[in-house]
Amino acid sequence: MDLGIRGKRALVCAASKGLGLGCARALAEAGVDLVMNARGAEALEASARAIRDEFGVTVSTVAADITTEEGRAAVLAEAGAVDILVNNAGGPPPGMWTDWDREDFIKALDANMLAPIALIKALVPGMMERGWGRVVNITSQSVKSPIAILGLSNSARAGLTGYVAGTSRQVAGKGVTINNLLPGIHATDRAVALDTGVSQREGISMDEAKAQRCATIPAGRYGTPEEFGAACAFLCSRHAGFIVGQNILLDGGAVNATL
Ligand code: NAP
Repeated sequence: MDLGIRGKRALVCAASKGLGLGCARALAEAGVDLVMNARGAEALEASARAIRDEFGVTVSTVAADITTEEGRAAVLAEAGAVDILVNNAGGPPPGMWTDWDREDFIKALDANMLAPIALIKALVPGMMERGWGRVVNITSQSVKSPIAILGLSNSARAGLTGYVAGTSRQVAGKGVTINNLLPGIHATDRAVALDTGVSQREGISMDEAKAQRCATIPAGRYGTPEEFGAACAFLCSRHAGFIVGQNILLDGGAVNATL
């Protein structure tokens, strides 16, 4: 299917690895020029180079922490007027509800709620003026079904989800859609980190930890960044203009719910 977005320009945050990279690659395959961001310059440059070589699109990079004001200023200066924004950042650490104090919550809110909101506020007005735009926020299945040890993530992402629910309806009339993609377990560095946590807590091997987590997924496996990126690119396509304010689960059926 031709996604109809060849020649558009996208900012993809936290994109040197994992799900963000999956989104960047799928958009590039559809002919979209990219501004890619991550903190570490080396992996970012390597991923950008691979995308340029494979898909022939223009890719610029900004090595910066997207959860800070200075980081966002640097990214926005390079991005200019983009048509597509993919919001992403690392997830907060796991822990117990008794562990977290105000500072931990502020950090999680900055990273996973206030950073994407700041980028939406900076970029969506231009999209509305030009009459077309797409925003996809990478959140988590924990928005629909809480993961107890990820309480900081559950809280911050629920806040972003509430904001998107209202805001997406305020901008849709100008051709701009805002939606959330909710990853279940995907085979990325983040999944390896969570497998390691299970392996250490339960004194089992990494293979056993992975098998234990795969058993919670009806599809029987982890998702891939390629599958995730393809869903993101479709949401950014010209065919998805009627999808507004939705929370789309990509979890291999892990959340056991009818709706
Ligand atoms: P990942 O493989 O660890 O990749 C994270 C990417 O984000 C890297 O490119 C990293 O590069 C960049 N990054 C992290 N913090 C950043 C920051 N402050 N500013 C700019 N870039 C930053 O993680 P992932 O699995 O793709 O996860 C992406 C998001 O989805 C996370 O929020 C995660 O919690 C959520 N999620 C993932 C899963 C899963 O199973 N994978 C499930 C549910 C939710 P640098 O470190 O160089 O900055």
